[in-house]
Amino acid sequence: MARRLRMLKRRRAFHLRRVMLAAGLWMKLRKRRRCAPRQNPSSPLHATRKADAMDDVEDVMEGAPSDDEIEQLPRGPVRSRRPPSRVVKATAEGKPFDEGEVQCGPKPRKIVLLRSVFEGRPPVVLFSYTQACCAEQRPMDRAVPADEDGPRMFYSHTDAVHQYNAVINILRHGGLYRVRAETNRWTVMWSLHPTPEQLRRFTPVQRANHFPGSFHLGRKDLIWRNLAKMQQRFGKEYQISPQGYILPKAFLAWDAARLRQPEALWIWKPCSQSCGRGITVFSSDVPEDQLRELSKKRGIVQRYIPNPLLIGGRKFDMRVYVVVVSYDPLKVYVNDEGLVRFATEPYSDSVDTLQSRMMHLTNYSVNKQSPAFVQNLDGQGAEDKEDAAIDEAGQPKASKWSLTELKIHFEREGLNFGAMWESMKDLVIKTLISVEEPLKAEWCKTLGCEDGGWSARGPGGAQRSSCYEIYGFDILVDETLKPWLLEVNICPSLSSGSPLDKRIKTKLVADVLTLVGVHPPTALWQLSPDSVHWPVTGSLPIMDENEAASGCLLSEEEMAKRARRIASCESPADALSLFDDIAWELCVVAHEEDMRSGGLMRAFPCPHAARYAHYWDEESYCNIVLRKWQEAGGGAIFRSKKLPPWVPRQVCFNKT
Ligand code: ADP
Repeated sequence: MARRLRMLKRRRAFHLRRVMLAAGLWMKLRKRRRCAPRQNPSSPLHATRKADAMDDVEDVMEGAPSDDEIEQLPRGPVRSRRPPSRVVKATAEGKPFDEGEVQCGPKPRKIVLLRSVFEGRPPVVLFSYTQACCAEQRPMDRAVPADEDGPRMFYSHTDAVHQYNAVINILRHGGLYRVRAETNRWTVMWSLHPTPEQLRRFTPVQRANHFPGSFHLGRKDLIWRNLAKMQQRFGKEYQISPQGYILPKAFLAWDAARLRQPEALWIWKPCSQSCGRGITVFSSDVPEDQLRELSKKRGIVQRYIPNPLLIGGRKFDMRVYVVVVSYDPLKVYVNDEGLVRFATEPYSDSVDTLQSRMMHLTNYSVNKQSPAFVQNLDGQGAEDKEDAAIDEAGQPKASKWSLTELKIHFEREGLNFGAMWESMKDLVIKTLISVEEPLKAEWCKTLGCEDGGWSARGPGGAQRSSCYEIYGFDILVDETLKPWLLEVNICPSLSSGSPLDKRIKTKLVADVLTLVGVHPPTALWQLSPDSVHWPVTGSLPIMDENEAASGCLLSEEEMAKRARRIASCESPADALSLFDDIAWELCVVAHEEDMRSGGLMRAFPCPHAARYAHYWDEESYCNIVLRKWQEAGGGAIFRSKKLPPWVPRQVCFNKT
């Protein structure tokens, strides 16, 4: 027996060595491939992707070989430890598949399901944090391990985008296996914007990390065009970004503005570049040759904010992570943690200093070149974790802070962080409303259904919540504590270059995937009956996962009719009494999301959502329903006993 065990151990060690050898070779190949990324320079996303890759140089893989590496391994003796007789052969859609197509990994992944807070509703996959990212784990009391013999779940990560460890580690940690996008067996896709062909093939449970057409938000000229339109209609309340002029078209308008404001400073930026590339700062007194150049060059010129809030004499900006779960209804979450990036030279608004990039630009990629740049170790090694980046005089010791560190600084200085944060959320909501119309048009165009609005569905089942997106809002706070939007990154860097970045970004990815709701195949949650709070009384219908994911199925006109009736109600209680099953389904889904949002805080819909209603040409049915629900008390109303019988009973009240 002992001899047999020794032999088995030796055989395992032999196979492990083979695996590691093959993985090492594959790593080298991949490194070479990474050095020559396939990019289309004319693509509006080109610049953002390049920025991500540049910021990611210090990124390192965590432990085991990746799925790609495993895929390349010799299949022969390396077998899954899953007993072959008990493998359930079903895809994410529940269809049978050929086991040979799937990579044989050395270790089966474990899926953990998160029970709904409502009775009788299916769970979602829980993406917990990796230990290596050092984030404090979220409460796990609703977590249920999925049956190991259940069907596998898959993700696809294409080569079109940079491969961040934060993303790959969380997807694998969540128990998903990697497949190629073409197989369409994935439930989660991490890539660029879905193409029309891809979107038409989407099934209702597949989720992708981009909306078609979000370059309307990510390109500096397009976002300004959208904001300027709103500014023209609503005036001062939409002054959330510095006045801009898209050159060369608006050259004459800018020239006139410059002459009117001789004291002003200006900043010129290329439209689709990032990392501070090509940016120049100058005064209104522009030499003739520079004027001639500006009159021809494509870019945007903006009013330079001359009075930024300074910390320790240095300029800083905030990187705020914003997640849009859907545009209709507009559901927006803001991450409670983000980054603060400092310039490495003390600030001056003297025109003689305008050439100094390390004084006027706060980009990490610019300032990390400075000898004065100090990495933030996120309290690792320091006695007091929260104070690690602040010295005795309250000045920045590190060149990057977390938002928590900024909040501590505000409190110390007697500055109102809460008020600034509220204005920042207002800026985020207004920005997203300003791009909703062009994004809706892109959604319809991509699905070949020009007049369908957000109700347009793909032939395979793509629907309004098939896509979600993580945005990096770059925000500058001036000395009056007014936040100004500088730009929105639609592919924010998720690199883990420092312990601080690693913690924040890995947790962000996990929280986003849990929030948007990755639905396990029915076979998997039915094999794990503890994953659902079964109804104790009555016979509530268990929602089909496709139904739960799809939201509204009504036409735009029908929705508009119902919307007008609900909107015309004076009191929220009257509005609630008009809610049909579709309206309640919207509220239940939104509340389920809230209850599993981790560090992501809902910014919209909010109790004061009525303030924003007039910014839409016509407020949609879904937005009206969620607004009225919020006005009536939001999640708290699920504690009431007087709800219609088809509304599921909330049985769990702990947020995860
Ligand atoms: P990029 O995409 O190249 O990073 P940004 O618009 O974010 O371009 O600008 C880079 C940096 O320049 C910002 O981080 C900020 O420090 C500074 N900056 C940009 N616009 C302004 C402005 N209008 N006023 C003051 N500083 C600005």
